[in-house]
Amino acid sequence: MYQSLEQSGISTTPSSEQPSLILIVDDDALIRLQLRLYLQKEQYRVAEASDGLAGLAAYEEVHPDLILVDAVMPTMDGFACCQKLSEVPESDRPPILMITSLEDKESVDRAFAAGADDYITKPIHWAVLRQRVRRLIQQFHLQQQQTLLYKQLEAANQQLQYLASTDSLTQIANRRQFDQQLGQEWRRMTRERIPLSLILCDIDFFKNYNDTYGHQAGDVCLQQVAAALNRSINRAGDLVARYGGEEFVVILPNTELEGAVQIVKQMQAGIQALAIVNKSSPNNCITLSFGITSAVPTPESLPETLITAADAALYQAKAQGRNTFCINIHTVNELNR
Ligand code: GH3
Ligand code: MG
Ligand code: MG
Repeated sequence: MYQSLEQSGISTTPSSEQPSLILIVDDDALIRLQLRLYLQKEQYRVAEASDGLAGLAAYEEVHPDLILVDAVMPTMDGFACCQKLSEVPESDRPPILMITSLEDKESVDRAFAAGADDYITKPIHWAVLRQRVRRLIQQFHLQQQQTLLYKQLEAANQQLQYLASTDSLTQIANRRQFDQQLGQEWRRMTRERIPLSLILCDIDFFKNYNDTYGHQAGDVCLQQVAAALNRSINRAGDLVARYGGEEFVVILPNTELEGAVQIVKQMQAGIQALAIVNKSSPNNCITLSFGITSAVPTPESLPETLITAADAALYQAKAQGRNTFCINIHTVNELNR
């Protein structure tokens, strides 16, 4: 028998304003009545079930703050009921107070082994019951608060992590994230003796674009370019980051020079497809210049060398008239000697 809260005239709507709810699971109707009257007098709300199975169903429906379980019951006894409830994740599991007329050590041990938090014996010593109920409910509420705070903290940390690693204008990785990932990949490639490629690119005649169309249009252009560059990479370790201003950087782990050139060609096609008009550019649209480098890192070399090499290649691409890419593996090769 399980008497629902609705039947007993109690609302199931959770509210921190409401008194704590205690579920009594006992096959003895008289004991249930005594417990109900006593606990209601103590300002608790009460739900009842007459055996372990009905107790589990009631738990699912009313989510009590404490469960009082009789040890010996038909259908499913208190120990089995406790055992089942112990499968509920700890943060959601209400405390269980086992009521037993069996005072022997074995029953007490069984109660704790089954997951009970404490026990009282029949005949009920009401003052003891009152204190145990109060303490267990207090502990449960404290535990719930801690769980909530922990979840909030975790969400805040994730948000912080996102903000700390993302460029706010373009929503791609920022310089900080780039530095971190380059260091990581550099060490990984060093261990595995495989090549790491780096692309540095810069929007051509962007100052003119801003001067012609305004800073806001410039911002939108940066967003579109960032998204287009990002669409050209697809491996898990690849990263496009805003390096600064209108300059972007791409990390391509485990990628040979040929692979990097391939990616640059895809990026060029992606930018061309955007077809952003820039009448102050000789090409009449937004283009980028690219510097590409690639190396198998060694323990003696530094990741900064890769950036210097890509920067030199980018400078060369600009000098060659822009809207093109240049390759520089010279510096890194020297380093690797
Ligand atoms: P080049 O072809 O040699 O790269 O010439 P450029 O005009 O692109 O390069 P320059 O370094 O002279 O100008 C870069 C411009 O990028 C100037 C600056 O106003 C603009 N810029 C940098 N960051 C932002 C930004 O966040 N938003 C906008 N709208 N413009 C930016
Ligand atoms: Mg530029
Ligand atoms: Mg620049």
